Amino acid sequence: MAQLSDDCFAFSGPLLRLDDMERLIGERISPVVETERVPLHGARGRILSSDVKAPVNLPPFDNSAVDGYAVRHADLRPDGDTTLVVAGRLMAGARENLSLKPGEAVRIFTGAAMPKGADTVFMQEDVTVEDGRVTFPKGLKLGANRRLAGEDVPAGVTVLSAGTVLEAQHVALAAALGLTVLTVRRRLKVAIFSTGDEVVEPGAARSSTAVFDSNRILLMELLERLGAVVTDLGILADDPDRLSVKLRQAGSGHDLIITTGGVSTGEADYVRKAVETIGNLVFWRVAIKPGRPVALGVIPSGVGQGAAFVGLPGNPVAVFVTFVRVVRPLLRRLSGARPDKLVPLPVRAAFAYRKKKDRREYVRVALKRAPDGEIEAIKHPQDGAGILTSLTETDGLLEFPEDVTAIEAGARVGFLSYAALMG
Ligand code: AMP
Ligand code: MG
Repeated sequence: MAQLSDDCFAFSGPLLRLDDMERLIGERISPVVETERVPLHGARGRILSSDVKAPVNLPPFDNSAVDGYAVRHADLRPDGDTTLVVAGRLMAGARENLSLKPGEAVRIFTGAAMPKGADTVFMQEDVTVEDGRVTFPKGLKLGANRRLAGEDVPAGVTVLSAGTVLEAQHVALAAALGLTVLTVRRRLKVAIFSTGDEVVEPGAARSSTAVFDSNRILLMELLERLGAVVTDLGILADDPDRLSVKLRQAGSGHDLIITTGGVSTGEADYVRKAVETIGNLVFWRVAIKPGRPVALGVIPSGVGQGAAFVGLPGNPVAVFVTFVRVVRPLLRRLSGARPDKLVPLPVRAAFAYRKKKDRREYVRVALKRAPDGEIEAIKHPQDGAGILTSLTETDGLLEFPEDVTAIEAGARVGFLSYAALMG
């Protein structure tokens, strides 16, 4: 389904840096091409497939930003109060064509069209009204409290660009411009399964040596947040023949297949063998911690293009980190979204840390306001890749860049919230 060549993931270097990985994704993966038109309500989370130009000005006409009095600025005395006659009244939506004559003011309300000749609006709190006359203080600037037609968006300009992941504010802007539908890329179809003889469905009878599957629901939720349609293929035993059959079936009708577990170099790591048998597998030794090598490949389908394949590790924290740092950029690219710029926010490390050079490390932290007012990042006491509570008891990840080897307590470090990483 996806536009993938067999060697699109090929990479021969020893260790792939995250920024090189994102570059490779941009160069070698093409987004799905099919589009559909969706009503505004329901477009949130979808990926805009072409630029949207404003069909009208926003606001569509000059109007008042406040409740007050519209005047012509030239009538105001620069050196003292000015008193003018109130010549009319304009509510929002009023369609009268009032024209202001010299010496006149008009009572006006927020959103009402500016009367002809008026260019400035006084807030009602700033004036005194008596016997149909209104007195204004000096000093208000020309154009104050007036909103000009097109000052937000001039008709004809591009307001939303292709690749935008539509959020509430984007559809609100489209609505303000009078649009009712938007053209978006079709949703990605993603199949997932867990692997492992020891993995069982939550709620099922569990033998003393089995664990409940948490990776599949984790992936399902992460994928659905990103707008994918997920096919849940369940849990597969560590059996290469069965894995091959299932993978081959999933190759048709899906853009991407994601598995967890069974991709390291242990003897029971059959996912790797299964993919090698039916498709094309490469390993990206991504320079990232946590996250061991991530398996990538292409699984052919009977007809048309194959599906991309990503084999994630089995440990839940490694699944999470490799998902947000490897799968998410891949998914955004496939779905036609622009690469997003995740900007780590500066916080203060409450701990010292040593790391290897040339790899990017992610540390699970909770945020707390220190007595001096600064925001401090507290490292979770358990940093094993299997510790799920290290994700539920923290707020996000600190990102330590490749060139750094030591972080001292008190250092300024970059924080990425889970909300930002999953959005
Ligand atoms: P693996 O990569 O298959 O060697 O698995 C690494 C660790 O992750 C093992 O302790 C597995 O039991 C665990 N694991 C694998 N898959 C899952 C899953 N779906 N849910 C929870 N834990 C898992
Ligand atoms: Mg396993």
